[in-house]
Amino acid sequence: MLSEFDLITEYFTRPARTRAESAPAVALGIGDDCALLTPTPGMQMAISSDMLVEGRHFLPGADACQLGHKCLAVNLSDLAAMGARPLAFTLALAMPEAQRPWLAEFSKGLFALADRHGCTLIGGDTTKGPLTICITVFGELSPGTALRRDAARAGDDIWVSGTVGDARLALAFYRQEFAFDTPLADACANRMHAPTPRVELGMALAGTARAAIDISDGLAGDLRHILQRSGVGASVDCDSLPAGPDLASWPRALRRRFGLAGGDDYELCFTAEPAARERIVQLAQQAATTVTRIGRIEAEPGLRIVDADGAAVDLALTSFDHFRTA
Ligand code: ADP
Ligand code: MG
Repeated sequence: MLSEFDLITEYFTRPARTRAESAPAVALGIGDDCALLTPTPGMQMAISSDMLVEGRHFLPGADACQLGHKCLAVNLSDLAAMGARPLAFTLALAMPEAQRPWLAEFSKGLFALADRHGCTLIGGDTTKGPLTICITVFGELSPGTALRRDAARAGDDIWVSGTVGDARLALAFYRQEFAFDTPLADACANRMHAPTPRVELGMALAGTARAAIDISDGLAGDLRHILQRSGVGASVDCDSLPAGPDLASWPRALRRRFGLAGGDDYELCFTAEPAARERIVQLAQQAATTVTRIGRIEAEPGLRIVDADGAAVDLALTSFDHFRTA
């Protein structure tokens, strides 16, 4: 029988030399009552938590390695949306039983992504219960450079990174919402199971872009958060959205709907003044991420969806809400 302390030592405590060396920030890691972090002098800390519950955020029996990746990815995506550099994270884990093969796969997926971003696991909590994973990430950024939701201004361009909609297409496949002629492509399934947090892009944009949010519940719904917090409105051209390579071959109505209200994309939606266009494209290239301009922030409140000719399109979009959606 694997005890709580054995499993922490065996699967979550790593010797300093194999650990992600964001190092100087981590003065004391796993093993004491608290971890100790020493932020770089003059920097601000960015902190965020995200919880994933089996049957709610992932399907029962989900691949453990992908789950380890995804639960950290969604947290890193929040740091990216703020423009922060990842430093460290904690992991609170409830599981019905401690199974070695599951823990080995879960920690493999988790640490592979953590190491890619120099983000060190510094502590957590472990308990028996329905499978639930809660991660808190700690990052840092220069004061005044954070990409806040309340910073959009009328006249700003609206941009989106990468592509949107393929994660939603994968979900439609699993739910058999309509007929698919071919099996689901791995790349499309990966958009749902193993999202790529846009950490480098977020860090590059800090100080240049104005407002940003990461797209977890659908582009339109998440953009509305920026609009509300900033006291502005927007129009978005629904035919300018960069559709995922798999969604791109589906009819326009589905591209529009899944692109705007898909969810689970973990791309960044951000605004910037038009004078920064060239700079934004350069920064995105340096971060090896594509970016597309999809609309404009306007003074009049509300989100207007238009087509390429500027004519209004009524899509009756709903974004995901845990307490409203069955
Ligand atoms: P406490 O009783 O003070 O809450 P615990 O006995 O729960 O401490 O944990 C012992 C050490 O192991 C602590 O440093 C804690 O942060 C760490 N820890 C517990 N669970 C995890 C986990 N799932 N991942 C990483 N570290 C963990
Ligand atoms: Mg404890």
